[in-house]
Amino acid sequence: MTKHNAPVKVVVIGGGYAGTTAANHLRLRADVDITLVNPRPKFVERIRLHQFVAGNYDATVDYGTLLGEGVSLVVDGATRIDTAARKVELGSGALLDYDFVIYAVGSTGATPASVPGAAEFAYPIAELETAQRLRAAIDELHPEAPITVVGAGLTGIEAASELAEQRRALPAVAIDKDYVFEGPDGKVALIDLFEGRSQLIVYHFMWLHDIDEGCPSCSFAVDDMPDPIHLNEGADTTLALVSRVPYTRVSQFKARMGWQLPWYSSHGSDFNYDFHVSSDESKTPIEYNYKDKATLNREGLEYVATNGADGQGVSVFVQDGGKVFHTYSAYGVGADVMLSTYRFLDLTPLGRQRYINEWPWHDTYGAPDRHEHHH
Ligand SMILES: Cc1cc2nc3c(=O)[nH]c(=O)nc-3n(C[C@H](O)[C@H](O)[C@H](O)COP(=O)(O)OP(=O)(O)OC[C@H]3O[C@@H](n4cnc5c(N)ncnc54)[C@H](O)[C@@H]3O)c2cc1C
Repeated sequence: MTKHNAPVKVVVIGGGYAGTTAANHLRLRADVDITLVNPRPKFVERIRLHQFVAGNYDATVDYGTLLGEGVSLVVDGATRIDTAARKVELGSGALLDYDFVIYAVGSTGATPASVPGAAEFAYPIAELETAQRLRAAIDELHPEAPITVVGAGLTGIEAASELAEQRRALPAVAIDKDYVFEGPDGKVALIDLFEGRSQLIVYHFMWLHDIDEGCPSCSFAVDDMPDPIHLNEGADTTLALVSRVPYTRVSQFKARMGWQLPWYSSHGSDFNYDFHVSSDESKTPIEYNYKDKATLNREGLEYVATNGADGQGVSVFVQDGGKVFHTYSAYGVGADVMLSTYRFLDLTPLGRQRYINEWPWHDTYGAPDRHEHHH
């Protein structure tokens, strides 16, 4: 009877891990005719989509290198399975006869409705097309723009790590200007701030020129900074403060606060303007936290967009044989990672209690709040 000799027709719907493996395994039997249906001509390494999004991996593989001989690939989507007639209907309208069908279309995650804004603004990454959309959106962003990952499951955590890795791979911009700072031993250059180590973190400590005092919010940040022994001796990194005010004021304020971290004056130098923590349109167009003057004004941040004003932030430099490179800068809440008091308060029922510009200088607790200040 010819019927027994005719090959068994198997249609595999979905060419992911399950479908591709099933199709290849079926080849062990000579009497099976295998058709794989998948909407894309390429296999998607779904478990690598988070790496693809961060630009660290190409998550597609040509089916030619993956499917064994004899498996025919149909690039289309299954729209209907007619079990009575034993036919799979495809998006193109074509019909595939089958004796057996393997249904391996995977699953698609839904954006959680419990996270406000996620449905409107988030980019899902569980499928190639949505991951491609996110990749394109990330390519458009400034490389240091903040990205929020919704969902801290394995994929969310891995995606965040991949994006962080991408940040570490940011280009290092050579510093060609000779900035002059003043410290306890007189005039020094940017390379001297490294104190011989390979990395330098500069905290741009904001000076309040109207009252000629160090900013209380920046003081709160410095109070929160770690004992530098770990950075210095454990990680070959120096942490230093820089303010645009004559060094005498720096040293007086440092003594008042009782801080040990190295602190330099950038008074009279372009340093603060070039790293966008001081505003003076005659030197450089106003920019703070990657926002131009119009944006700052529109967002109610005109205090930092005013000529003569300072902002706070953090910049990172590396040196290679005495040549200095700038690798990172963050401003505003971008520098919040340093606020370890908040890390502790976040564990408590009362939470943070005060916004960043509501913390007084540590030697004025209990005194009436004398100054209105911004950070
Ligand atoms: C970012 C990310 C990271 C992950 N990391 C891991 C990990 O480290 N380890 C781990 O074990 N798992 C991981 N997973 C889960 C893993 O990817 C899935 O469990 C796995 O892909 C499931 O395989 P599958 O073949 O069932 O589905 P999929 O791999 O999703 O394949 C389904 C295929 O069917 C196609 N298809 C859908 N509808 C149709 C249709 N109507 N007609 C034809 N074809 C159709 C799809 O386009 C797709 O090609 C991760 C997932 C994601 C999103």
